[in-house]
Parts: sequence; C-alpha cells; structure tokens
Amino acid sequence: MAEKPKVAICGLGACAGCDEAVIDLNEAILQVADAVDIVLWPLAMDFKYSRIQAMQDGEIALSILSGSVRNSDHQDMAELLRKKSQLVLAMGACACFGGTPGLANFRGKDDIFNWVYRDAPTVVNPSGSFPQTETVLNGHKLTLPSFFEHVFTLDQVIDVDYYLPGCPPPPDLIGNAINAVLDGDLPPKGSTLAPRKALCDTCPRNQHKPNRMEIRSFRRIHEVEADPDACFLAAGIICLGPATRTGCGETCIRINIPCRGCFGPVPGVVGSGPKFLSTLASLLVVERDDEIKDAIDSIDDPVGYLYRFAQPSSILGRRSAKKSMEE
Ligand code: SF4
Ligand code: SF4
Repeated sequence: MAEKPKVAICGLGACAGCDEAVIDLNEAILQVADAVDIVLWPLAMDFKYSRIQAMQDGEIALSILSGSVRNSDHQDMAELLRKKSQLVLAMGACACFGGTPGLANFRGKDDIFNWVYRDAPTVVNPSGSFPQTETVLNGHKLTLPSFFEHVFTLDQVIDVDYYLPGCPPPPDLIGNAINAVLDGDLPPKGSTLAPRKALCDTCPRNQHKPNRMEIRSFRRIHEVEADPDACFLAAGIICLGPATRTGCGETCIRINIPCRGCFGPVPGVVGSGPKFLSTLASLLVVERDDEIKDAIDSIDDPVGYLYRFAQPSSILGRRSAKKSMEE
C-alpha cells in the first residue's frame, strides 16, 4: 500500500483555538485522518520532538503552523518543521499577521516583564525575581526559552508557502486547504487560501447600507440599540469590513458583532489599519477643527481597532521587526 502523506499540525505562540478549529471539521476529520499520516499534533496526540528531528528533510508533506513567534522555542519548532516539510501553511491570524499577541509590540520586553512580574496589582514577588533562560537549582540546570523583544509573524522567521487567515479560520476553509494539498490542486506559492473580496462584498448587511454614508461621530456597540439588519458603519459603529478579506462566513456580523479584521487586509493591501483609516476619513462629514477632534476622540481605542490582528505584518510592525532582528 502506498505511504500516506505525512502531516504535522503545531501551535507556536498560539491559544489552541486554531487546533480547535481543526477538530471542528467534525466527521470530515475522520476522512482527513484516513487520508494522511498525522506525525505531530501536540494538542491532540503524544508525539516526540526527537521523532521529527530524526526524519529526512522534506519527509512531511504539509506542516500546518498556527500562532505567532514570540520566543526561541517557537522559532526552533518553526525552523525544524520548515526543514522537514515540503509545504508550510500559516494557519490563523497569529501565524499570518501576528494576531492579537502582536499588540504587545507597542511595548518592549522590559515593559512587559516589569508589569507581569513586578507591577501588576496581583503580583507578589518580594525577591523581585524575573524569568531567566538558565537557573541552577540544587545542582541542576533548568532552562527556559528566551523571550524575544518582538512578536513575529511566521513568515518573518521561516519561508511560508500558503496562508489561511482567521481567528480561528473556519473549518470549511481548513478542509479545503488540506484537500487542495492532497489533490495537488494548489494555487501559486504565497497565496492566501481564502476569497479575494472584502467582507463588505459578502456581508448580508451591505444591502441595507445607505447610498451615501455620512459619519459625524463614532459609537460603541453597547451605546446603540441593536438592529440585526443595519450596516454597523452607517450607524457610526467601527466595523473593519471595508478593509478586511472575507471568507469567515460573516460569523461575527451574524451575531451582531462588528468585524475586527481577523482575516487580514484585502488583497493588494499591506495593512488593513491604515486602509480602514482612509475609509473612515472619507466618510466623516465634519469640517471645523473642534468637530474633527471630537469625532476622533469618540473612537475609544484607535490602536486596538486598527492593529488588533496585524501589527507585526503592518508597515509599522515590519520596520520594528527588521530592527529587532538586526539587534
Ligand atoms: S489565530 Fe486566534 S484562534 Fe488561532 S492561535 Fe491566534 S488567537 Fe488563537
Ligand atoms: S461595514 Fe460591516 S456591517 Fe457594513 S456592510 Fe461592511 S461588513 Fe457589513
């Protein structure tokens, strides 16, 4: 019998939500398990790192990696799987764009450690000790991965063949991606395995958008009475649909939650944040300086909206990633 293609599924700086999405393939996961030989999936099965190290280079047909790269352990695993795999798929917003962990790039490592191990009100640390990469205790050496200054996307650390965005990606797109690999029916290297349209193009609320949208100030979702059909943006509620790639199945929109951009920018755009900002600017109908200031001040968390899922892959994030790599 011909050998089945080997597949590895592995989370790096991940919350395990992407692994959960693979499990959400439900019955289809049985077909996948039948068609491939899963050689690594730390969340679901017990495999040994040494077994992967012992493999031939390129022996794994596909490695599906989720999560960002925040420490030396993540980097080592990403590099090992790249070496052993013919194809690498970056799965989820964290691997593709840095994800929500990437928001930490607005702070340095020292700021983060000082808060987490010293200044947060719930911390009790009388000796003021901070994590060390090496500690000797009772004659035994203990090691920890080193924490990087920066959160990196997967492709800032290794070569990536395909991208599957979302937080997490929907199971149907995961199933399509795995089948495309099994069938050898793949688009050009570097492709994102999701539709090439903006979320607004597929959003059911688009048909209720006014022909001309005019925004005077912004409101948060809890400040307005929920209308299940109205376009969020037309009601002055921040929704990143115009600047975000579709493919999510409009899951958030359908439960009355505006888009926050987990599918990343629309094709041809580097960062959804600046793109969305220019959309907002074109919709604002304010003229006087004080009106403009009031409108901007009514956005409660601009950085959180504009960079929630993609700071490390944005123009801003790429610059600091490059600097951090050079240091
Ligand atoms: S993309 Fe979302 S679900 Fe996947 S690891 Fe990151 S935070 Fe978790
Ligand atoms: S802005 Fe949001 S709610 Fe409005 S059509 Fe686009 S995705 Fe839908």
